Amino acid sequence: MHYSVEHEDIKRFKREVASYIGIEMTFASRRNAEQDQFDVCVEASAFKVNNGQELCTSRLKTEPFMQWLAKNVPDKNAVIYYGFDANEQHRIQRRSGIMGAQGWCTDYPLIWPDRTIFDVEEIGIRRPSTYSVFKHGNCIGCLKAGWQHWYIVYCTRPDIWEKAKWAEDEIGHAIHHEDSGPAYLEDMEQRFLAMKKAGVIATEHVPHQRFWATAKKVIEISPQMELYLPCECTEGGL
Ligand code: SF4
Repeated sequence: MHYSVEHEDIKRFKREVASYIGIEMTFASRRNAEQDQFDVCVEASAFKVNNGQELCTSRLKTEPFMQWLAKNVPDKNAVIYYGFDANEQHRIQRRSGIMGAQGWCTDYPLIWPDRTIFDVEEIGIRRPSTYSVFKHGNCIGCLKAGWQHWYIVYCTRPDIWEKAKWAEDEIGHAIHHEDSGPAYLEDMEQRFLAMKKAGVIATEHVPHQRFWATAKKVIEISPQMELYLPCECTEGGL
């Protein structure tokens, strides 16, 4: 993941976990992590591929990960561990199915009944600060996420907001689509500004129904804006 869209505190978290486990981190990155989700899309002149899947997942995660596995792990009896928890059963099933179909075994330590660690803070590792506003540690400015996520980007990361607008300009498509057609970031700015001035809190931790009920007091919203679209991207892709 490119440096600008992966928060510095996530890098700190990864370093501390690797140090605790006593292993060196290995990165399976595309082009030495020089590109972010916008760069790969602009390069391909598209945000989505095939049946509507986000191109960034495939370019930044799936392809480098599978290439790394093919090159470095000849033994298909190796187990690939994922950090999904018991609330993410559908992701576990999906991941087991995708990897299993290719002959890989997967496992999910966070759902094991016998555990010694239930929270990283128990071993003195702070969870990434991004969790204070986001529900995940994935790209900021996620191309799969809904408008609540993008409101946080607008309020807290104007650099990423501007880069996303640049990508929309370059590609000639919008990241978001509504029944009425494409919904460009630029067209959302006046509404987000009004929300910001009205003190609508930029966070994913307010349930989306309450978040948009508050927003509705100051702006007109569409049904698509009210949808909660979580980022379910993971290393290895979806
Ligand atoms: S986290 Fe979002 S933006 Fe990043 S690669 Fe996955 S789908 Fe794309």
